[in-house]
Amino acid sequence: MILADSTGAGSQEPEAGDSPAPASAVIQTPDSKIPAPGISFDPPSADLFANDPIQRATSLEDVATLIAACRACKLCDGRTNTVPGEGPANARLVVVGEGPGRTEDETGRPFVGRAGELLTKILEAIKLPRDQVFICNIVKCRPPENRLPQYDEVAACLPFLHRQIELVKPKAILAMGGTAAQSLLSTKQSLGSLRNQIHRFRGIPVVVTYHPAALLRNPHWKRPTWDDVRIAARLLDD
Ligand code: SF4
Repeated sequence: MILADSTGAGSQEPEAGDSPAPASAVIQTPDSKIPAPGISFDPPSADLFANDPIQRATSLEDVATLIAACRACKLCDGRTNTVPGEGPANARLVVVGEGPGRTEDETGRPFVGRAGELLTKILEAIKLPRDQVFICNIVKCRPPENRLPQYDEVAACLPFLHRQIELVKPKAILAMGGTAAQSLLSTKQSLGSLRNQIHRFRGIPVVVTYHPAALLRNPHWKRPTWDDVRIAARLLDD
């Protein structure tokens, strides 16, 4: 099953559910808008899986080593490099995208190429140098032809992301694109309906916005993305 209704790195046009959340979902204050609470997803903690090597990994490097050896789904067959993610272990913000593209597969680094450059600019706009952010994807190996990751691939790979978040303990998570948001929050809601809310993953605030690759194709999404990113920036300041 392919994850439905993603407006991530794919070429989908906006769907009915991708319009901004209704004004009633936003609480107005004199100097800011505070989005309403959204989904709270709290998967079982690591302690319940003490014999799992992923859960026993004590550093991001350990997780990356496990990813490099992973053959838990068919995406391993076509990869050149695994793309575990990069950034400091004490990052205040974790950015989660969908999966590696061709350049990411070639370099082993997340969010490089044009979409990566745009992400870097987005982060600079909120005065957050890219090298202070942990940047990663839902799946760590490139889906062929840049298709969406399939359900079984996401399910196989999510434990790596969960462990990375557990190790970094960020103040906020920015989920970019429908696949990232749906996978992280375990929901099938559209990206449009997930925006303008503060969700929670194991208690950590999650803001949902468009994927930079989608912004390159649909520049009119830049304004709502900027609104979302400023919400994430406020969470870091709080
Ligand atoms: S995508 Fe994830 S689960 Fe699949 S082989 Fe790569 S690292 Fe393993």
